[in-house]
Amino acid sequence: MIPKPPPREGSLGFLYIHPFRVQGLSIAGEATCVQIPELDVCFDMGSCPRPALACRFAAVSHGHMDHVGSLAYWCSQRRFQGMGTGKIVCDARIAPAVRAMMEGFIQLERQETAYELVALDASPGVEQCVEIKNNMILRAFHTEHTAPSVGYSVLEKRTKLREEFAGLPQEKLRELKARGTEITRQLEIPLVAYLGDTLPGPHLIREDVRRAQIIVTECTFFEPEHRARARVGMHLHVEDIAEWLRVVECEAMVITHVSRRTNLAYAVKRLSELAGPELASRVHFLMDHRTNKTRYERQAELAQAREAEHARQDAKSDLDG
Ligand SMILES: [Zn+2]
Ligand SMILES: [Zn+2]
Repeated sequence: MIPKPPPREGSLGFLYIHPFRVQGLSIAGEATCVQIPELDVCFDMGSCPRPALACRFAAVSHGHMDHVGSLAYWCSQRRFQGMGTGKIVCDARIAPAVRAMMEGFIQLERQETAYELVALDASPGVEQCVEIKNNMILRAFHTEHTAPSVGYSVLEKRTKLREEFAGLPQEKLRELKARGTEITRQLEIPLVAYLGDTLPGPHLIREDVRRAQIIVTECTFFEPEHRARARVGMHLHVEDIAEWLRVVECEAMVITHVSRRTNLAYAVKRLSELAGPELASRVHFLMDHRTNKTRYERQAELAQAREAEHARQDAKSDLDG
């Protein structure tokens, strides 16, 4: 008998929540990297799956190894592949340590890996932002964990005509504007909220989290007897998720950071029991490959049927016309 080859690496988690792809991997204590290609951002870089290289921003939630282990590698590979300088977004409190880590690599490698560090002051009342795309900003806010930690929200800035001017002719609007009247107001639409490792707290019900279209969040503990362990490690427990689901407006909640010893079927069942099937139907587990694959195939079928229907209607109107 000769030794067996090593087990194959698991595939990446993938969900399509229109118009966003949520992809990557996340296992508590091992590695987390959640990429949203449409927003050009990866949340955390515990390991660096190849597709993650394509994003210009890596926003890290805290300094634990399973969230930052591949940051330097990500920057280096982006340069090596000619993809430009990676931008690391982090909590200002850990920025000096991130810089020191990158300095360490310069000494080890005898060459400099280019990177840009965007340190955000996430203190309440400050909560700095960085623009990640046109009219899209990433905001950092404090969360509570055993190390300094932040969560992020991605907001789309939209300009909207003020209600009192709705329906006025363009000419009139131009005239008002010329006279210095504010005819528009700025709206911030919360698209995605990301919670790295954290205890529950007021940060879970902030407006930009509560109203986000998609919430990506950790949930590390599922067994009823693990409540105390969740508190000690400063993590979310499935009972927190069930309670939280009652007050958020999200279309989808994506659960990450499930530990390897947790049976996924058990986790799904527990959540459904605690939150009820209706609320639980909005929840997806990033690493539940089988369920997510079935869901995606169904989405693809529906999209195909829709396209076929459009084509039929176009052909019909061509004939009619
Ligand atoms: Zn972690
Ligand atoms: Zn952690």
